[in-house]
Amino acid sequence: MKKQFAAAVDVGGTNTKFGWVDSAGQLYGSGSVKTGEFSTAEDLIHRVYLELQDLINFDETEAEICGIGVGAPNANYHTGCIHHAPNLDFAKSIVPFASIFTEISGLKCRITNDANAAAIGEKIYGKARDMNDFMVVTLGTGLGSGIYTGGQVLYGSDGMAGEMGHTCLIPGGRKCGCGRLGCIERYVSIGGLTTTFLEVSEGKKGELRPRQIQALAEGGDQDAIQTYRLTGEYLGLHLSSMAALFSPEAIFLSGGLAQSGEVLLSPMRKAFEDNLLTHHKGKIKIELSGLKKQKTALLGAAALAFSSFSQ
Ligand SMILES: [Zn+2]
Repeated sequence: MKKQFAAAVDVGGTNTKFGWVDSAGQLYGSGSVKTGEFSTAEDLIHRVYLELQDLINFDETEAEICGIGVGAPNANYHTGCIHHAPNLDFAKSIVPFASIFTEISGLKCRITNDANAAAIGEKIYGKARDMNDFMVVTLGTGLGSGIYTGGQVLYGSDGMAGEMGHTCLIPGGRKCGCGRLGCIERYVSIGGLTTTFLEVSEGKKGELRPRQIQALAEGGDQDAIQTYRLTGEYLGLHLSSMAALFSPEAIFLSGGLAQSGEVLLSPMRKAFEDNLLTHHKGKIKIELSGLKKQKTALLGAAALAFSSFSQ
């Protein structure tokens, strides 16, 4: 049988990364372009496909390309479109990204949002291979979530379900990029942590990045410890509500902020356990993703292609 490959593309506000992945999750060559250099989706896709073709020489007697998987913000699995993505200049309206990719490459293409792609990656290549009910929560610039229920990704009626980041944590709280107030994404994310530290320290220690705040916390700085404690408690409390809704076997955390260590994870676990329904207590694991941080997005996008197109 021929070896199967998928092209994986991760569209981000700053960089669009791409590469080839085989069905065992091995990454063969990767590259990236600056997303902001392209004013239309057509221009971006032409360039990405050109570079993908240069990355690897397939011997068609031994290898077969099953399709293209794309992870992107505000991507709709059902329609193949990117809808009004605030951080993507080419997608201020609705852009049929998957069908443009197919037109240009002649390959089948599936698209979903980056957190759903991370969840599919966890299912195919990570720690959730034997699970049917789990969540992946990505903690970075924003807070994303991908939810598996009954062995399927939860897409909802319109293909856009699973947006835990835009569920309300604090009524009337911080203004979110989605236009609403108090979304958990404004509290449990890189920017959220920075803002909480500014509030807790009353601005006396300046605007610091999470890494600097983490170093302060590890050195015993009470403001920094309090900042991580609050952030962990917000996340743990909110995940306990998600557990009541979806009854997952496990919740996996990925993204830069998930790497903060016990200063974040310990208060998060305590708030989670304290607020779980009695019948869930002690049964739901929270762990770090089984995928390497730098590869999560591309492995997730490839897993989307394999799960959609592979025989
Ligand atoms: Zn929001």
